Amino acid sequence: MFQDFNLTEVRANFPILNQTIHGKPLVYFDNAATTQKPIEVIKALEEYYEKYNANIHRGIHTLAEKATAEYESTRDVVKKFINATYREEIVFTRGTTEGINLVATSFGKNNIKKGDEIIISTMEHHSNIVPWQMLCEEKEAIIKIIPIDENGEIIFEEFEKLITEKTKIIAIVYVSNSMGVINPVDEIIKIAHKKNIKVLLDAAQATSHFKIDVQKLDCDFLVFSSHKLYGPTGVGVLYGKKDILDEMPPYQGGGEMIKDVSFEKTTYNDLPYKFEAGTPNIADTVALKAAINYLESFDRNVIEAHENDLLNYATSALSEIEGLRIIGNAKNKVSVISFVIEGIHHQDIGAMLDVYEGVAVRTGHHCTQPLMNRFGILGTSRASFAMYNTKEEIDVMMRGLNKIVKKFR
Ligand code: PMP
Repeated sequence: MFQDFNLTEVRANFPILNQTIHGKPLVYFDNAATTQKPIEVIKALEEYYEKYNANIHRGIHTLAEKATAEYESTRDVVKKFINATYREEIVFTRGTTEGINLVATSFGKNNIKKGDEIIISTMEHHSNIVPWQMLCEEKEAIIKIIPIDENGEIIFEEFEKLITEKTKIIAIVYVSNSMGVINPVDEIIKIAHKKNIKVLLDAAQATSHFKIDVQKLDCDFLVFSSHKLYGPTGVGVLYGKKDILDEMPPYQGGGEMIKDVSFEKTTYNDLPYKFEAGTPNIADTVALKAAINYLESFDRNVIEAHENDLLNYATSALSEIEGLRIIGNAKNKVSVISFVIEGIHHQDIGAMLDVYEGVAVRTGHHCTQPLMNRFGILGTSRASFAMYNTKEEIDVMMRGLNKIVKKFR
């Protein structure tokens, strides 16, 4: 049974929201950068350090067993959260960035050779560009870029034309952090698999907004970060199909990832431990479980509808401002809006919204410089809404923006 989605109660569950900034109630619209944390997550962290902090897996004392059980049960919760087939397919990382680096390095080692091709898109976060560039530099492989149209949607026909016999992997963002655009990843995966090409989805911005089913998607890899999902920073997830992960060499060497070590020969541990060298981030991993359980205690469709409502409300309100242009007008979007206002620098917008109305938005290139280049801009202001945001808060942002526009005109 789901609990009712009562906005007042939801907000009360996020203590940080209850504060003033420059004398105004905080309006937190920087959720695409990181979400705030519910009490359950904060309590899980506290409880770990107060009651059962111990290193995991090898200990046989009570605290070590409790810590191990809590850590490993998070793997089961994540498995269910994304509907993976096996718990071994869930690898804990530091975040999305590390997940992509792991795949680029480890999958790339045996599968990418000179002249091979990797496809990414124009709207990728730098963390889904640079690891592939590093791999291509090392292997003399080639990156090909899917172009996008004026609305921020990938041009599908152009994507299909990029595929050749040499394409080995397509690494694409599920939801653009800069524009909120949802990519047609189902179709991309279907086309890729017909040609035996692997697909990695960067789901950093997807997990908090809608339900993900990796079996239905049939993606080969999927990566995300806990901190964009109401969980703590410093932990993330790499999902990979078991048979593919099994074939991949370890990413880092050290404790945990081995079965047996001698100076003559070391044998590696089974999945997923092969990819979890060293003491992991136990506390934050355990708290990620609390975040997922909190989110899943609601009907996800109700949250999605609420966020869509906020998106539509903000989109029409922003459209009233003269000289304002929304970057990313795709039909299929989550509650993220990027915009530029003619004649006003995005940094001025961000700083003035903070001072005038206590509104936190993100400004800049959002780690997507190639996307900014595509639109011929240096950066945008971005308002991104989470489950706890309200229409009244959007009204506050609009009041601030109108003041700013007035000042500059
Ligand atoms: N990809 C996307 C789409 C993102 O939004 C982000 C975070 N802004 C990342 C990757 C990187 O995530 P992290 O910094 O948590 O590793």
